[in-house]
Amino acid sequence: MARRNATAYAPSDEGNYHHHVNPAKWRDLRWPTCIKEINVRFLNGSYQQKLLVADLVREHYNTIPMSVKFRFFLEPEGDSDIRVLFVKMGDSHSYVGVSNLIVPEQKPTMMLNLEHKNPDNNKNTILHEFGHALCLEHEHQHPGSGIRLNRRALLKGKNTNAECIDDNYEIQPSLFCPWRTEPYDRHSVMHYGFSKGQLRDPEAYILVNPAVSQGDRNQLLQMYPLKESHKPKLLYTTADSKKLTRGIFEATKKESRWAKFFLRVKGR
Ligand SMILES: [Zn+2]
Repeated sequence: MARRNATAYAPSDEGNYHHHVNPAKWRDLRWPTCIKEINVRFLNGSYQQKLLVADLVREHYNTIPMSVKFRFFLEPEGDSDIRVLFVKMGDSHSYVGVSNLIVPEQKPTMMLNLEHKNPDNNKNTILHEFGHALCLEHEHQHPGSGIRLNRRALLKGKNTNAECIDDNYEIQPSLFCPWRTEPYDRHSVMHYGFSKGQLRDPEAYILVNPAVSQGDRNQLLQMYPLKESHKPKLLYTTADSKKLTRGIFEATKKESRWAKFFLRVKGR
């Protein structure tokens, strides 16, 4: 089932936490503009599976004229930012944006379950999880979505609980950062599918989308503009800036409250 790391939000009774970060406030986990390539490796899987993922992501994300692209390596060894593990059971999920960099080198950052019978569902899974890796949020949680859930029906699902529904299904304005100016997009690849009975309107249903929508593209263009003249340029090379980011994360891991802030994983 879809899930977010339980540590994504600090409990409100942690006094000092509010001194640093307001949990209701957005967090910027976008890849910095100095990082041009996100290196992806596969920890398992057949040649066909790897190619399916790489081709689809290249077609849908690498064709967007934005500051960051995915680069795929078929061999498992070597430097990587995202590590895909194919699973046959359970849900797919991914770390969000730069929180991928905090995950230890040998561990997966993304689980992909591509065992759906309908190929469109597999395409949706791949593009949805890579959307999270780019720091996209769930579209149905957009303040403008107007989604009205039938919580009782959703709670009957496998591995679901009230916290999971709050985190992954309900409208959450705090997830939508200042750069998020695109209106709600029903066709976003980040939108969950809902079958009849899962929404308050008993006749309503929403199918998943197997493609990155125009709204998703517009959103990414805003998040990762090619030219960002209003921001000071960092003088690091790509490799250095990743090392620097990892270094900051390593340092912040010692301060557990900050680790909670950075480490985020999102379900399908
Ligand atoms: Zn998701």
